[in-house]
Amino acid sequence: MANVHVVGAGPAGSITAINAIKSNHSVLISEEHPTAGIPQNCSGLFSLEGLKILKKYVDHNKFVINRINGTDIYLNDVLFKIRRKEAVACVCSRAKLDNALADKAEKEGAKIVYGERIKDNFKANNIIGADGANSTVASNFDFPRINRFVATLQKTMDYRKEENGVVDVFLSSKIPGFFGWIIPHNEEKAEIGVGVELPNNVRDAWNYLLKIKKIEAENPSASIIPVETRKRAGKEICGKNVILVGDAAGQTKATTGGGFLFGALCAEIAGRDVLRPKWYDLEWRARFGHEFMLHRKIRDHLNCMNDSRLAELGEKLNKMNFNGYLEKHGDMDKPSKIIKPEILKYLINIVPGFNARQQ
Ligand SMILES: Cc1cc2nc3c(=O)[nH]c(=O)nc-3n(C[C@H](O)[C@H](O)[C@H](O)COP(=O)(O)OP(=O)(O)OC[C@H]3O[C@@H](n4cnc5c(N)ncnc54)[C@H](O)[C@@H]3O)c2cc1C
Repeated sequence: MANVHVVGAGPAGSITAINAIKSNHSVLISEEHPTAGIPQNCSGLFSLEGLKILKKYVDHNKFVINRINGTDIYLNDVLFKIRRKEAVACVCSRAKLDNALADKAEKEGAKIVYGERIKDNFKANNIIGADGANSTVASNFDFPRINRFVATLQKTMDYRKEENGVVDVFLSSKIPGFFGWIIPHNEEKAEIGVGVELPNNVRDAWNYLLKIKKIEAENPSASIIPVETRKRAGKEICGKNVILVGDAAGQTKATTGGGFLFGALCAEIAGRDVLRPKWYDLEWRARFGHEFMLHRKIRDHLNCMNDSRLAELGEKLNKMNFNGYLEKHGDMDKPSKIIKPEILKYLINIVPGFNARQQ
């Protein structure tokens, strides 16, 4: 009988399982769907830096759909272009990636039961809630609630894009908390998507993006992403060790909703610390808490800006050649890496009140 029960065979569940096995635990994974990675509710856009860290589990090269070397950010109607000479990210098939991670967990010795939804029928005294944004494990064990979620709509469809390696990002205050994206898969196909922080209306955001891009698309898929970290993600309760990891713990970037990499990094800690849930909770916050906080601050700042301030920001970024700075210090995942002493000369110009003498 397994001594660790992982609920959910998403990336966080499989990576926790692999690391728990390395720490001499026996692991059972329960997954409610008949296979891992389906339905796919993810754009599959990951930094190459992040994917390097995951190389010990899977070789992402097998699942690459497209390579990305730039972003066009539309701050209302002002375009700010970020370009790199080489690819810095790639679009992967999330379904295949999740499947490969689950296979790896099985090969390492985990038993996976597919088609089994866990309500309160836990199978061991050490429980890992890797069960996503609507975590059943979190509700069962009375963890603090996550209060901030982004609702998303997205669809992969025929779409012609001039620069096949460039992702488009849209920001506008017309729909509060709105961001939109077009992620190219090839010259003919792209994923179009929008997100808004609840309780704003995601359908309005979808219609807005279709209108400005003059495209028609029906039946997008809907999903939600937690965009704040859970106040607590590990506890000992009634003789059980319970850990939440990945989306269940809100380990996502509030700027973009991306959660694959941080979920995976926290899952490594979870697997090692199965028997020490409080230690796990301290360690992931110590290592990545500042990154989550910075993502949250950046997103809150953007959400507060009206269209004219967004456009003004775009103009300033262009004028200061902020692209040049990002080329040297940019990092898709870890905003702390962007903060070098040289950034002060940009912040003075773009953050209101930063340079008190200017006012
Ligand atoms: C539209 C959209 C686009 C995104 N794009 C990106 C992106 O480009 N890059 C990125 O890094 N991140 C992206 N994300 C976020 C990313 O998908 C998540 O952060 C990531 O999937 C979290 O992994 P996880 O293993 O924690 O949870 P999940 O991937 O949600 O896996 C949870 C698993 O648990 C299973 N499960 C749930 N409840 C139960 C239960 N009670 N019993 C048994 N099984 C259960 C589910 O079936 C699922 O397989 C996106 C999210 C959305 C919604």
